[in-house]
Amino acid sequence: MLGVCDLAYTDNDAGAPPSIPRLRLAKPGGRATLAAMARAKDPTSEGTRPENPLPAPGLDALPMGEALSPELAELEVRITTCRRCPRLVEWRERKAEEKRAAFQDWEYWGRPVPGWGDPAARLLVVGLAPAAHGANRTGRIFTGDESGRWLYRALHGFGFANRPESEARGDGLILSDCFVTAAVRCAPPDNRPTPAERAHCRPYLEAEIDLLPELAVVVALGQYAYDHTLRIFRARGHPVPSPKPRFSHAREIDLGPCAPRLIASYHPSQQNTFTGVLTEPMFDDVFRRAEARIRSV
Ligand code: SF4
Repeated sequence: MLGVCDLAYTDNDAGAPPSIPRLRLAKPGGRATLAAMARAKDPTSEGTRPENPLPAPGLDALPMGEALSPELAELEVRITTCRRCPRLVEWRERKAEEKRAAFQDWEYWGRPVPGWGDPAARLLVVGLAPAAHGANRTGRIFTGDESGRWLYRALHGFGFANRPESEARGDGLILSDCFVTAAVRCAPPDNRPTPAERAHCRPYLEAEIDLLPELAVVVALGQYAYDHTLRIFRARGHPVPSPKPRFSHAREIDLGPCAPRLIASYHPSQQNTFTGVLTEPMFDDVFRRAEARIRSV
């Protein structure tokens, strides 16, 4: 018997192959989610180069890995071994070999980038995808690029991070009451995953949502993350307004009593921050709203 907040998926991502698992929102706890992924089709099971499987990294390679629940740790490790999207596998690994001149001494991560943070988080931050020389280099989402500098400065300002800088895994950055992730886990050319790639990766974000039972707010960075998040919650039967509210900065969407509130933000990309489309006060306003919402529930 399903409770009022136990919702089954009702549709699928546009362009998704029929093999994408229809996971069940399981609150609290996520064991059902992982079991459903295993029974259906786990994206990590589709190796594009099965003769060269990607070994799983140790738990110590995951940011804040020791803090994760066993289920969340298992999920994040599995994400890092995924090779389902041939185009993105080729791109992420090629960028990791070519490297940018400034990072020639780095050993690039070159894998899918897991989500990271506090497993008891009430705030979830969703971006688009890793940057080729940012998270694809450092192995931690929003780490090692200008967007990350903006994000973690803001999170630190509102008490969700213990320091404002984010340079590399192992730099001492700890998130508190916050989990940071992305819609797509492999760096895409031109920051543009295809609809099929987006659909392939979607179960990972859904599984993370299931494994973060305290969520009260989702901050979507950019229209891509905003649309993707709405798509997921609509598919789960939550009351997403129709027609879909237009994306705009600091827009808040009430997704009903059984879902976190969605807050939209312009993405802190250089395209926005260098041009003044997004300013620090505007960005802080989003996290002020998130903090106020968390305090109110
Ligand atoms: S984008 Fe997602 S589904 Fe595709 S290979 Fe990367 S981790 Fe796997």
